[in-house]
Amino acid sequence: MDHRVIIVGAGITGTAMARALSAKGIDAVVVEKRTVAADDGLAINLPGNAIAALDRLGLAEDVTRLGMPVRRREYRTASGRLLFQVDEDAFWGESMRPHAMLRGDLLRMLGSGLEETSILRGSGIARLEQDQRTVTATLENGHTLNAELLIGADGVHSLTREAMGLGEQRKPSLIGSASWRFMVPNPGVDCWTVFASGGTVILLMPVNQGQAYGWAMTEQPSNGDAPAVLENAFANFPSVVRQAIGAALAEPSRLYHSPLLDVRTGDWSRGRIVLAGDSAHAMAPVWAQGAALGLEDALVLAQELSDTSDWIEAINKYEARRKPRAAHVQAATDGMSRAAKLPQWLRSLVLPIVGPKRYASTYEPLKNRA
Ligand SMILES: Cc1cc2nc3c(=O)[nH]c(=O)nc-3n(C[C@H](O)[C@H](O)[C@H](O)COP(=O)(O)OP(=O)(O)OC[C@H]3O[C@@H](n4cnc5c(N)ncnc54)[C@H](O)[C@@H]3O)c2cc1C
Repeated sequence: MDHRVIIVGAGITGTAMARALSAKGIDAVVVEKRTVAADDGLAINLPGNAIAALDRLGLAEDVTRLGMPVRRREYRTASGRLLFQVDEDAFWGESMRPHAMLRGDLLRMLGSGLEETSILRGSGIARLEQDQRTVTATLENGHTLNAELLIGADGVHSLTREAMGLGEQRKPSLIGSASWRFMVPNPGVDCWTVFASGGTVILLMPVNQGQAYGWAMTEQPSNGDAPAVLENAFANFPSVVRQAIGAALAEPSRLYHSPLLDVRTGDWSRGRIVLAGDSAHAMAPVWAQGAALGLEDALVLAQELSDTSDWIEAINKYEARRKPRAAHVQAATDGMSRAAKLPQWLRSLVLPIVGPKRYASTYEPLKNRA
């Protein structure tokens, strides 16, 4: 056997998985098809449970060093009127204080301390086979690897999920195509701020001294042609928004087209192949839980694998522990998405009351250790 574990994908989930397994003394190799992560230069919002998971991965100091605290959220209308705000500092407390961070920094810190040779970059997994004892992965370059277990952390378009023979469950569904992320000089936001009118939404979030991260989406279908769609959609939004959109459009090569996809599969495993992160449960970033759930998946699976030599039993326990948490976030995502689609006049009435309650009912259960 070449390795005990093969991890497919060196994104947030795959790299966290390698780190968590290494901490338990379990030998793993990561296979990553890219040489550089595609969205390295963008930022990410890490709510309190992501911070707790990073702490358990031994990275609390790096979070403080590289991240920007996110102390408050503001939900505003398209005209800029404040619907409600959340004191995130008070909600999560100091030890779970949310942070914004560059994705590249997050990936580098997750990978720090791992052996260079434990991540094979530049050739993806092309084919998978398994019998009762072994999984065999064939890479695009023709090499083969054998292991006792293969973890598919290969994202929303997971080849691992495809190879598991899950029928219709295997396909991701498209929620929105007109969605872009970008980094711009901060146009003047001092906290996580959303401006929304129905399905036209923009988030702006300070990331470091000078820069802000933006995510903009509209309900119109798009093949990735940003300028016309974004200019029209946000023409009547407040000046901070127009300034951010203007700066993003001035450098279209830095606009990252980010269609929203959803994965809901009842089965996360087949024999010795198991899914983690987006490959198991991708969802719209309404509650910014993608990274948090991937990090938690890594901690829980590594713990179950180190607790027993019966790895089929370990996989079953992992699924039993993780599915309710992912289902909770999926339900909360659906609920907030429905509220966002209410007519503007009703939204303005409902959200100031319902919004803070939804924030608390989504995140309160996630304060519990995964
Ligand atoms: C617009 C938008 C905004 C978001 N904002 C946030 C946010 O603020 N906070 C948050 O927590 N989450 C956010 N998310 C979600 C978050 O980005 C994902 O949940 C997270 O990146 C998933 O990580 P992953 O490692 O599971 O998958 P991925 O990041 O997709 O990584 C999968 C890796 O597998 C590799 N791979 C794929 N196929 C193969 C193969 N065959 N062989 C080898 N390697 C392969 C890929 O190259 C990639 O590196 C957002 C998502 C979107 C679309």
